[in-house]
Amino acid sequence: MTYSLPKGTFDILPNQPEPWRCIEKWHHIERTIRMISHLYNYKEIRTPIFERTELFVRGVGSTSDIVSKEMYTFEDKGGRSMTLRPEGTASVIRAYIEKSLHMTPFQKLFYIGPFFRYDRPQAGRFRQFHQVGVEFFGEADPFADYEVITLALALYEALGLKHLKLMLNSVGTEHSRIPYRNALREFLLPHKDTLSEDSKQRLEKNPLRILDSKDPNDQKLLDGAPQMGDFLDEASRTHFEKLCSLLEQANVPFTVEPRLVRGLDYYNKTVFEIASDVLGAQNVLGGGGRYDGFLQQFNGPDIPGIGFATGIERILVTMEGQGAPFPRDRGPFIYLIPLGETAERISQKLLHDLRQTHIPADVHRGSKKVQKGLQTAELLGATYALVLGDNEIESKQASLKDVTKREEIPISLTSFIETLQPMWKQHAQL
Ligand code: AMP
Repeated sequence: MTYSLPKGTFDILPNQPEPWRCIEKWHHIERTIRMISHLYNYKEIRTPIFERTELFVRGVGSTSDIVSKEMYTFEDKGGRSMTLRPEGTASVIRAYIEKSLHMTPFQKLFYIGPFFRYDRPQAGRFRQFHQVGVEFFGEADPFADYEVITLALALYEALGLKHLKLMLNSVGTEHSRIPYRNALREFLLPHKDTLSEDSKQRLEKNPLRILDSKDPNDQKLLDGAPQMGDFLDEASRTHFEKLCSLLEQANVPFTVEPRLVRGLDYYNKTVFEIASDVLGAQNVLGGGGRYDGFLQQFNGPDIPGIGFATGIERILVTMEGQGAPFPRDRGPFIYLIPLGETAERISQKLLHDLRQTHIPADVHRGSKKVQKGLQTAELLGATYALVLGDNEIESKQASLKDVTKREEIPISLTSFIETLQPMWKQHAQL
């Protein structure tokens, strides 16, 4: 039997050509996420990878694609139904309520980690994928929507992404959606036979989801459909206008997309998505929305919230497609290449001293050919290589080879660490 990756998953390894498989690129994204979260004062939360199935059924909505088709659900040995988390908000809300985080008036949280959806794998869509998300609890004012949206844009900008499109809409309140849902159903009913199969099913249960349909025929039909904006209640309308003006004041470009509803049932007032021009069919980098009143569905307090989540794989694909810069991969600062037994012994001592002084270092093993050692140094992304042969040991003089510039710097082995320390400090700051 051969063992291979489950479909829709991938390994993340050192030095890979595709960025979404390359651990150094992931570290760069993760560092940037932590830096931006710190700037905006969001604290990290880590919740379990699996939760009771009921949490997601309640949290995501039983008519959503996620719950109806895509969950990894299993029975544990105690006979309880468990599900690998398909999204982040439900778990964060569960923890928020369970740990009474509402005792602090505002909570601003972020998470990073793997999520699971049983979907047809394709470019930009995996069965195990990774998201970073933020949740802002306790603020009903559009200022919170504005902050979450600008945090998302700041993250993309810090990663060098360009030409992104911010799309906004208001889906009103549960109450104001009732007449809209009816108007939309009435409009679509006479065309039921021409709707796609998915949309036919949604017509009765959740006609708003038809607005999300990717089917070109459905989209054409919807051109003349009634618009949510005409059904908004006064509070939602004012909220939306205030958000738009906050964004305008900050010169953040956006478009209002009257058909944007997003897949999840719990949103009210603001919904938004950010799309990238290089992602093709799966062009949505991230999205979010407001979920005031939603916590009560989990027997929690009536506290407003707004959140956002973005896929890390899609960020990486966009960065590659747009030629966004990645920092240079950092291998060892010094790569020692000993030639012979004495040199190996001395290398071990140097290696120990280097690591003791916190200078990243490694030693070449295997082939005793200088050329092979230098090639490996380059492959590992080392900054300097140091060849140690009989001559160098006898004279106590060696030369540091700059692996990329191919320059040589003479160095005395008697003051090796003292010479390297300031060089390393300067390098580490770059
Ligand atoms: P959602 O929770 O469906 O709103 O998704 C938020 C973001 O997560 C999307 O915009 C994608 O960037 C990412 N995402 C969702 N599902 C997948 C998937 N199956 N594979 C890769 N990324 C995904």
